[in-house]
Amino acid sequence: MSAFQVKIVGDFCNLRCKYCFNCNGKRSTKTIMHLDVLEKVFKVLSQSKQETIRVHWHGGESLLAGIDFFERIIAHEKKISDKRFVNIIQTNATLVTKDWADFLFQNHFHIGVSIDGDEAMHNLNRVYENGQGSYKDTLRGANILRSVGFKVGVICTVTKETIASGKKGFLSLVKNDFNSVAFNAFHEESDLFEVRNVSNNEWLDFLKDIFDTWIELNDDKIRVREIDRILAWVEGRVANTCAFKSTCANWFTIDWDGLIYPCERIGRVPKFGDINKLDSFDEIFQTEEFANWSHKLHILPDKCKKCSMVELCNNGCTSHRIKKDEIPHFVYCDAQLSFFDYIKDQIGVYSKKKEVICNG
Ligand code: SF4
Ligand code: SF4
Ligand code: SF4
Repeated sequence: MSAFQVKIVGDFCNLRCKYCFNCNGKRSTKTIMHLDVLEKVFKVLSQSKQETIRVHWHGGESLLAGIDFFERIIAHEKKISDKRFVNIIQTNATLVTKDWADFLFQNHFHIGVSIDGDEAMHNLNRVYENGQGSYKDTLRGANILRSVGFKVGVICTVTKETIASGKKGFLSLVKNDFNSVAFNAFHEESDLFEVRNVSNNEWLDFLKDIFDTWIELNDDKIRVREIDRILAWVEGRVANTCAFKSTCANWFTIDWDGLIYPCERIGRVPKFGDINKLDSFDEIFQTEEFANWSHKLHILPDKCKKCSMVELCNNGCTSHRIKKDEIPHFVYCDAQLSFFDYIKDQIGVYSKKKEVICNG
């Protein structure tokens, strides 16, 4: 089942996060999807055989498109009565007002907010153009969203500068009542960013620290994506994430101008087509560009072919594979294997805690 990330404002953003890979100047260019292109997006999606269509309304900062733009989105969706649209926004939350929160809640959006731990960790990287940290504005926005009824999930990016403070950052999020957290290790293969990249050992120590803290917290309401997906595996379930389910080839980005790429974490290569020239999205699946790219995606390095965790890990997130390898290999492979062993060793402790929680 395909899912779509529609970059309605391109890379346009009100923040200047230091690790943002949209940092090539485009964040200051006001690009907003033309209403004709939006209409075409819905025309093409309406031809899909899927009954449920999942759309991530993306940027940059997608709220910069304005409420009017989102009202158009809802109007289009209402006209396509044979489909169910699931709308998702990942936002820096600095622009959230009560009006925004009411609108998004009434229209059943799902919301994720990017918060990088505590104030000091967050403000180290997530800054405005004048260098001022955005933490207070982000927290204010997240609290407005919660005040109208949203359960706000958090994506917390960790870089080499913040990774040692993982426990502190996690506890700060929990203290602020964020119960659903996903951690992203920062890794970008470019001279510009290399200095921020998290190493295998750092990522492993971080994950162990977060797991131990989660056990100490002893609260099943607190969900951490990185722990959940390994526990799911240990318990014989498959975690519902694109990397682990090997569904990367089902994710498409539609840029503000209509050009179509893979998941936005991969960037703007390869280019699969232009929404303005399509009648149905199926035409993309028939292109040579897409066939070649998705074929390569599923070629596994020898180490993965022999790995007992391959069904869980599938060589990791595509954006975290080392591009210069002949067959790109997951950069955090070693950390993943060791973390899996660590959880297996600790599972007795976890089960006891779970028993206490369930019976308590
Ligand atoms: S909020 Fe997102 S798009 Fe904007 S600068 Fe930060 S990382 Fe980049
Ligand atoms: S690049 Fe990673 S996050 Fe994006 S769809 Fe592929 S596996 Fe998922
Ligand atoms: S843990 Fe390592 S070897 Fe195993 S599937 Fe993942 S990347 Fe491949």
